[in-house]
Amino acid sequence: MLVEEKDALKERLKEIFGYSQFRGNQETIIRNLLDGKNTFVIMPTGAGKSLCYQLPAMLREGLAIVISPLIALMKNQVDQMNAYGVNARFLNSTLSKGEITRLKKDCMNGVVKLLYVAPESLNKEETIDFLKKVNVAFVAIDEAHCISEWGHDFRPEYRKIKTMIQNLGDMPVIALTATATPKVQLDIQKNLQMEEADVFISSFNRKNLYYEVRPKKETKKQLIKFLKDHKGKSGVIYCLSRKKVEEIAQLLNVNGFKAAPYHAGLDPDVRMKNQDDFLNEEVDIIVATIAFGMGIDKPDVRFVVHYDVPKSLEGYYQETGRGGRDGLEGLCLMFYSHNDLNKLEKFNKDKPVQERENARILLQEMEYYAESPVCRRRQLLHYFGEEYTQENCGMCDNCVHPRERFDGTEAVKLVLQTVKQTNERFGLNHLVNVIRGVEDEYVKSYGHFDLAVYGKGAEEDADYWKSVIRQTLIYQYLEKDIDNIGALKISERGEKFLKKPHAIELARDHDFTTEVDEEEES
Ligand code: ADP
Ligand code: ZN
Repeated sequence: MLVEEKDALKERLKEIFGYSQFRGNQETIIRNLLDGKNTFVIMPTGAGKSLCYQLPAMLREGLAIVISPLIALMKNQVDQMNAYGVNARFLNSTLSKGEITRLKKDCMNGVVKLLYVAPESLNKEETIDFLKKVNVAFVAIDEAHCISEWGHDFRPEYRKIKTMIQNLGDMPVIALTATATPKVQLDIQKNLQMEEADVFISSFNRKNLYYEVRPKKETKKQLIKFLKDHKGKSGVIYCLSRKKVEEIAQLLNVNGFKAAPYHAGLDPDVRMKNQDDFLNEEVDIIVATIAFGMGIDKPDVRFVVHYDVPKSLEGYYQETGRGGRDGLEGLCLMFYSHNDLNKLEKFNKDKPVQERENARILLQEMEYYAESPVCRRRQLLHYFGEEYTQENCGMCDNCVHPRERFDGTEAVKLVLQTVKQTNERFGLNHLVNVIRGVEDEYVKSYGHFDLAVYGKGAEEDADYWKSVIRQTLIYQYLEKDIDNIGALKISERGEKFLKKPHAIELARDHDFTTEVDEEEES
């Protein structure tokens, strides 16, 4: 079908979905896909990714295949599409033989427009054989970050998607994700062999979310006080373990809040009921593990609390992203302690070395984020490869209650000179050792004790220099070397600064080291 007229596309949007406008860059994305081009979409949660393949599915001849990692999510989407009068179905392990036979028949007859498939099912030969007989319009890969080991939600089956698609012949592919750091983005494109794809990145800035990090100290007391201040409002509290979920849900109920637990260990009926109760506002608060939230679209979630430290900033951004979807207030509060980081690290101790190392790097980013004095919003956006330039966002703890500032001009100069003199090949720890004049193995083997910068910053401790380097990175005088993991390079801005330095203000990190919460130790 040809949809050349701008208005024609809009008309179909209205006709099928009842929306009168496209949001953000939906329309450009949809046109790109309809033109038969490979398309890569990075759009924050709730911004409307699904429409980017749902509408084209209706407009193109043939069957659109949507690869999606979660069976529960599939059913929701299919129900929703059916409600719009779109013939959408899913193929996964929950179907009986008879149901599969019928489904195949309907697909081959061209009755079905959208087929949601779990990656596990796509792996099966019989599925491939069947799909080869169907006229496939395009393939959409939802939650595409699952393909990357560098992301927060790696699924090995996702690695096989490219081969499966190749089996089906030549057709456009649209990959979509809500979280992709520049590194993950590259990884996805490489894996799907779509380096040439048109990439559409929407801003990740969620203006109405307030970000705050507090020390995990007398946490229960703090939590109850916080909830009392927001009584009757809808919110999510994330905890690390099922046990903690149960404990906190109970604590809240005892204290007169309407709260329900949600985690994968609950009976499916109970879990469903608790989720529905939350959506229907029978309960105000859902206390949950990260099992909760994918695909849940409650617009008026007023707060998202992380009772425990999340495993990655991607995860954190996703989970907080469930707050304030209606554009109104959304408070994101995280309780933070080093002890949590240690606990998370211990979980990984039996994993393969590479996986453990990846998880450790993600955790380290979490640590930097929590302890940094820099605007939270700037940090989060920087993490996703976006620059936030506003001096003060007015919507995070570090902007509203700024930490004491000091003149960091000389410190930044020294950092940049050190990076330069070590040929832009080293990471944070080595740079700190050179600056402080710590003669460890590496310093010795590279002969870095001979450098002019060696020991120039000896009067400050390692934490100070780590903080300066991280701030230099976030303010983009330095950048990560994508080809040399861990190494820092001088950016264009950094080069300019070295030629013509200007005054730079920095601040001291938060100090969470002294905060130990006795009640959390058990
Ligand atoms: P994502 O997958 O990016 O998290 P969804 O595709 O679930 O987001 O969309 C979030 C919500 O926005 C859904 O309720 C969807 O119906 C709605 N939506 C999407 N596009 C539009 C639009 N153009 N106009 C109005 N609502 C939209
Ligand atoms: Zn801020």
